[in-house]
Amino acid sequence: VAKARGRATSAFFEPRQVSLARDNLMLESQLGHAIEHEEFALLFQPQVRACDGQFVGVEALIRWNHPQRGLLVPNEFIALAEQHRLIVPIGAWVLREAARQARLWHAAGTPLTVAVNLSTLQFQAPDFVASIEALLAETGLPPGWLELELTERMLMDDVPGVLARLAQLRQLGVKLSVDDFGTGYSSLSHLKELPIDKMKIDRSFVQELPQQRESAAIAGAIIELARGLGLTVVAEGVETEAQREFLLAHGCDQLQGMGIGAPLDAAALQAWQQARTPRAPA
Ligand code: C2E
Ligand code: MG
Ligand code: MG
Ligand code: MG
Repeated sequence: VAKARGRATSAFFEPRQVSLARDNLMLESQLGHAIEHEEFALLFQPQVRACDGQFVGVEALIRWNHPQRGLLVPNEFIALAEQHRLIVPIGAWVLREAARQARLWHAAGTPLTVAVNLSTLQFQAPDFVASIEALLAETGLPPGWLELELTERMLMDDVPGVLARLAQLRQLGVKLSVDDFGTGYSSLSHLKELPIDKMKIDRSFVQELPQQRESAAIAGAIIELARGLGLTVVAEGVETEAQREFLLAHGCDQLQGMGIGAPLDAAALQAWQQARTPRAPA
């Protein structure tokens, strides 16, 4: 029977899939030790005010310095970390590291908002709000300088529970932002009730600006919606001058993307800031 099953299995799995599964198994066990081995790093991508280029904040983006594979981006390990709940300790590490860095910038006279991406499991953990409160107390970071990025999907699951948690976070004074806006399935009636501060226009729309009519219409509508709701609106993935001009003309508040600045480590970010001359007001 075992032999028959063995043969059946090999008929269903390509050798490539088998090696991929083995790779994942190895990656998973290495992921479990990556925090203690200090293999994670944060990069910070600048966010600037659209009207005058003023440097206002950063988004923290995780990288994994894998001992054999080199630098891995989130797409290569976050899903795996989520599957095995390793995202909870990894996410806690990201928050601690981001808050520590933000506190240093503050102390150095460079107040920047630091935005951190959350995963569903992390946000749903019963002690999540308490962990943020403890983090703020521990680091001494003024709460308004920490921004938590949530996706539409995270906000639309279990609406009453989410509303309660968001209200508690808001009470702590941290900022809340909806990431990749326009790609999920937000209900506008729920959106109206969410205590959020910011919306980020997904880069799939931004990338097609200004020529592509549909994306231009959607980006414009998201900006209108955010402003109508009294929220700050940020465009992500801004690469070109034409995109920047479109977004500025349509009233987008902040810009983030390779055309503004790449994700950089803290030292390189300081050099980036010193090297640039702020754009004169339009
Ligand atoms: P996101 O939150 O939408 O982050 C923006 C992503 O777009 C980043 O990719 C960034 O490097 C990339 N990007 C920035 N500017 C441009 C541009 O002009 N053009 C293009 N094509 N791409 C640009 P990254 O760092 O690979 O992160 C991918 C995703 O992984 C993030 O998307 C976020 O959802 C997730 N992620 C990153 N860090 C963390 C983390 O610490 N925790 C969790 N749970 N997720 C994270
Ligand atoms: Mg994000
Ligand atoms: Mg995003
Ligand atoms: Mg995105």
